[in-house]
Amino acid sequence: MKKDDPDCPVRKQVVPSMKEKENKFGMPNYLIWKENRATDEVRPDSIARQYIDRIAFTVTDVCANYCRHCFRKEVVVDRDLKLRMDVEEGLQWITEHEEIRDVLITGGDPFILSDDKIDYLIRKLREIPHIQMIRFGTRTPIVLPHRITPGLKKVLSGYHKVPIWINTQCNHANEITEHTAKAVYDLLSCGVNVGNQAVLLKGINDDTESFKALHQKLLTVRIRPYYVFYCEPAPGIDHFRTTVEKGAELIRDAIRGHTTGLAQPMYVIATNIGKIPLMPDYYIVDKNEKEYTLKNYQGKTTLWPNMPE
Ligand SMILES: *Cc1c(COP(=O)(O)O)cnc(C)c1O
Ligand code: SF4
Repeated sequence: MKKDDPDCPVRKQVVPSMKEKENKFGMPNYLIWKENRATDEVRPDSIARQYIDRIAFTVTDVCANYCRHCFRKEVVVDRDLKLRMDVEEGLQWITEHEEIRDVLITGGDPFILSDDKIDYLIRKLREIPHIQMIRFGTRTPIVLPHRITPGLKKVLSGYHKVPIWINTQCNHANEITEHTAKAVYDLLSCGVNVGNQAVLLKGINDDTESFKALHQKLLTVRIRPYYVFYCEPAPGIDHFRTTVEKGAELIRDAIRGHTTGLAQPMYVIATNIGKIPLMPDYYIVDKNEKEYTLKNYQGKTTLWPNMPE
C-alpha cells in the first residue's frame, strides 16, 4: 500500500476505520442467516450449505490479512461468533452425504494451515468416492504470495482424478505484484487453476477505470476473473457498499465489449439462498416474431433474425 495516501485502494482494505462502528444498513447476526445456520438440517459448524451438490467447508478462522470489508467478519475479524471448526466432524459429514460432489475449502484462509494439514485434507477428500473436485478459497496468492512454497507445491501437484481449483480475492490492480505473478504461475504448473472473486467496494474499485484495470491486469498474471460480489450487508461495512445495480453497470460500461471476454466476471449477489447473478440488460432493445434489435457496447444497434420454435 502507499504509505502516505489515506485513499490508497490497498490501504482502505486493511487499515481499520472508525466507520466500522456505524451500522445503519447491515444485518445483525448476518452469518447465521446467510449460511443457513439456523435451519433444521443438522450440520457441523464447519459446513455452510446453500446448494444440493456443493458446500463451503470452513477449516480455520485465521487469515493472511484481515480485510475490513469481510462479510465473515463476525468469525474472522471481530470473532464474536465462535464456530467449532472440527475438520474430522466435517469430513465425516461429507462422507455421509453422497449428493456432495464439490467441496469448497474456505475460512478464514485455508492456506494458513501447514502443508501437512492441507495434504491431509486433500488426501481425505480424495478418498471419498462421491467427491469429484476440491476447491480452495485463499487470498494468499495476492496478500501472501510467499506462501506458495516448494513444500506446498508438492502437496498440490501431480495428476489426480480429483482436481484442485483455487479462487483468490483481488480487488484492485495495485494488489498485483511480480510475487503474485510468480505464485500463480507456480500454482498453474501444479495443475491448479486460479480464478478471482472480487468484491465491489465503494471508493476502491467502483469506477470504470479501476474496474477495467483490475480485470485486465488479472489476466496478465494468468488469473481468470470468476465472480464480482456485491459487498454483503454484514454489520459494520456500510461504508464499502454501493448500490446493488452498480456491478452490472460497471460490467456494461467497463468490461463487456470494452475488453476481452476472458476478463469478464459474473456479477453476483451472494444471498442465503445462493448466488444470484445480476446482468446488465441493455442488449435486447426490441424483439418481434421476425427479428431482434441488439445493442452493442458502443450503443450501435443491429438486426438479428428470430427463429420460430
Ligand atoms: C459460494 C458458495 C459455494 C460455491 O458456489 P459456486 O457458484 O459453485 O462457486 C458453495 N457453497 C456456499 C455456501 C457458498 O457460499
Ligand atoms: S481473506 Fe477472506 S475471510 Fe479473511 S478477512 Fe479477507 S475476506 Fe475475510
